[in-house]
Amino acid sequence: MAAKTPAIVILGPGSLATARRIQQRYPEALIHGLAGRVEGVDRQYLEFGTTLRELYQQDTPIIALCAAGIVIRTLAPLLLEKGVEPPVLAVAEDGSAVVPLLGGLGGVNVMAREIAAALQVAPAITTSGELRFGTCLLNPPSGYSLGDLEQGKRFVSDLLAGESVRIEGAAPWLDQAQLPEDEQARLAIRIDSAAGKPAADELRIYPRNVLVALSAGASADIGAILEQASLAPQSLACLLAADSDMARAELHETASALGVPLRFAAANGNLETWLSDALGQPASLQVMGSHAIALTAQPLDPQQIGRARGRLAVIGLGPGAAELMVPAVRAELDRATDVLGYETYVRMAGPFRADQVQHCTDNREEMQRARHAFELAAEGRSVVVVSSGDPGVFAMAAAVLEALHESTDAHWHNVDLQILPGVSASLATAAQAGAPLGHDFCVMSLSDNLKPWSIIEKRLALAAEADLALAFYNPISRSRPWQLGRALEIVGQHRTAQTPVVLGRDIGRPGQTLRVTTLGALTPDQVDMRTMVLIGSSTTCVFPRAQGGDWVYTPRWYGNKPL
Ligand code: SAH
Repeated sequence: MAAKTPAIVILGPGSLATARRIQQRYPEALIHGLAGRVEGVDRQYLEFGTTLRELYQQDTPIIALCAAGIVIRTLAPLLLEKGVEPPVLAVAEDGSAVVPLLGGLGGVNVMAREIAAALQVAPAITTSGELRFGTCLLNPPSGYSLGDLEQGKRFVSDLLAGESVRIEGAAPWLDQAQLPEDEQARLAIRIDSAAGKPAADELRIYPRNVLVALSAGASADIGAILEQASLAPQSLACLLAADSDMARAELHETASALGVPLRFAAANGNLETWLSDALGQPASLQVMGSHAIALTAQPLDPQQIGRARGRLAVIGLGPGAAELMVPAVRAELDRATDVLGYETYVRMAGPFRADQVQHCTDNREEMQRARHAFELAAEGRSVVVVSSGDPGVFAMAAAVLEALHESTDAHWHNVDLQILPGVSASLATAAQAGAPLGHDFCVMSLSDNLKPWSIIEKRLALAAEADLALAFYNPISRSRPWQLGRALEIVGQHRTAQTPVVLGRDIGRPGQTLRVTTLGALTPDQVDMRTMVLIGSSTTCVFPRAQGGDWVYTPRWYGNKPL
């Protein structure tokens, strides 16, 4: 498995040059800079402490270009709770010092060496075992897992105290290490996948070279299967299931409880041929009814076996500003292999890493984009379809569901489909104005591209008559010049000219404007396609704000004001 992409965090423009040199070593890493303080970074943050703690909690390796003390103090509240942690390093602003702080078992010293080499300085490595043996014995490379950490620590102290060691099994990565090796040593590092408790003087390292395959529809207790075969659970590399079982929740739960990937392959022929086809390499196979075990000589790379269940997430970016995007959407964008959407929104969602494919399309090709998204996801990719605001409000979520509803392709229906919400333009605009939608309201798109104008007129008339506050999306465009004027006429038949109106343009984006006016003063030329129009009800009020401008709100009550 590839190590997680680190985040490079800087506080001021003074460290940008060093950050860029580190980025050359980790091209996929993004530089996070304090908003308003540094220009030209990949991602802006508002608050250093919150950002650092969030990254740490998401297990993201952190390279912080600031004093080690600042990093320690910032993460201190989280340190006691955590067993496994990401690598955390402090790097001097001018690149003269690289200090690994946390994450010894996550490979922090390896990173420290890599960064130090890139900056042409010596890393400040302080781990005794690492200094003496040139490697961290307790952090075997990917494809291998350590047995017992506490026992491992005692083992390393014994070695540091002067004991020698034998190596039993294949540990190619230890060839470079400077271990005090001796055939007769009491202590042994043992690398194999056999079950059983390690002996007192043994450091067990398990190669991940075991795969359990389940035939279509089968359920199994994986722990019991491994035990019966005398294989250590730590050696399990992945589970393999039939394509037709892709959406079975139970299998996904089993795999995630075991902490291994779940891969799929089309089940053709008997279990044995299916399994060896999917493996694509020699293995010793043990077939037992509806399941089989494969054991390979080298660790398995699950990415090379069959494919993953594809994922399709339809996400909402919110109005534009990064801090109004929900964290689940940020995480989804980070894990995406493919990003689809209207070019403006894809750009807003970025920047993306070099390995993430951007598929930009014209805004009108919604159904085509939805089908393309399913095709990619059905191949096992992690696809994100981007909408602005909320994806369920005049945006891509409904188109994606419609494409799925129309399809009989089982691969499409097997995709892990998620809709992740965003702050819709009406709500973002309302919040800036106060609470104009504080009571019952009605949301409408004034676009007659996808519905007849007569329906829009009817709905407008009824909503206006019902005294609902109104939020208009797509109020006007070059190809729909007269519709807004007509809509305002209809509303005017049921509301006074003094009815408050809020116009929000590019809310949450650079150059945003917010205007409070009245229905009587509102003319279509004050509105364009980037504007949200909110029209108050008979109870909507306006009063001046201390800092200038107005507050607009619609009270919670209706009819008689409660005492
Ligand atoms: N899914 C989006 C709406 C898409 S329809 C959402 O939930 O917000 C596009 C319309 O939304 C635009 O014509 C405009 O009326 C409104 N809109 C979108 N973003 C906006 C913004 N940042 N400020 C004001 N209005 C916006």
